[in-house]
Amino acid sequence: MAKTLMIVDDSATMRKIIMRTVRMSGLQFDRTEEAGNGNEALEKLGANPVDIMLCDINMPEMNGTELVKKIREMDSCKNTKIVMVSTESSQELINGVIADGANGFITKPFTPEKFQEKLSPFMN
Ligand SMILES: [Mg+2]
Repeated sequence: MAKTLMIVDDSATMRKIIMRTVRMSGLQFDRTEEAGNGNEALEKLGANPVDIMLCDINMPEMNGTELVKKIREMDSCKNTKIVMVSTESSQELINGVIADGANGFITKPFTPEKFQEKLSPFMN
């Protein structure tokens, strides 16, 4: 089934790198969107929910952990799988954001294989 993806990161360069890595991983999406912070992501999701979101943590305006909480309050996004992508790697932070409703965590630097491993369970 065709899947949709949103990449949320405040760095445009990082969004490009993530997009390229997703392509290299062989995973295919039928629509991809980008957002530069949590507010922008919420605005776009309100109009068009996505299947999978790759989400940075450190961002201005609304960071990734706040964004996860907001998305989990939205009925329209209850099936959206959220995978955090961050240089932060403390177990406490990872456990916290998973408890808040994220579905996975990828630490930077990442590889296409890591994307394949973490995202393919959500591609069915
Ligand atoms: Mg950032």
